Amino acid sequence: MKFREKIAAFMYGRYGVDVLSKCMLIVYIALAAVMLFIRNAVVYYILQGLSLALCILIFYRMFSRNITKRTAENTRYLKIKKGIKEKIFLQRNKWKYRKTHVYRKCPHCGVQIKLRRVKGDHRCACPKCGDSFDVHVK
Ligand SMILES: [Zn+2]
Repeated sequence: MKFREKIAAFMYGRYGVDVLSKCMLIVYIALAAVMLFIRNAVVYYILQGLSLALCILIFYRMFSRNITKRTAENTRYLKIKKGIKEKIFLQRNKWKYRKTHVYRKCPHCGVQIKLRRVKGDHRCACPKCGDSFDVHVK
């Protein structure tokens, strides 16, 4: 059996690599890069321990046969990543349109609504839940 086939046979039924593993690998590389500049021995050993634990976790996830649990972890990670991305996108847009629009949170469902900046009191209907609420724009 060739080496490539042996690897394929070994990995059969195992989880493999996913987005979370790739992110953990990037963190591992970043930790290794930071460790190059650390002079304090205690901090160095703490970072070394962290990177070793991360490395073990990456390989554990990759060779794990509990695919449903690993998939659930990856899904949770993707959900958190999406939430952070949306918050950054919202803050960027709030800054970008700060002169022409205001953002208000729907008191019923909590979604952020972009409204034209027109001074005064207005009544606003949420496009998501349909609830109406009062808005004051300065
Ligand atoms: Zn709403």
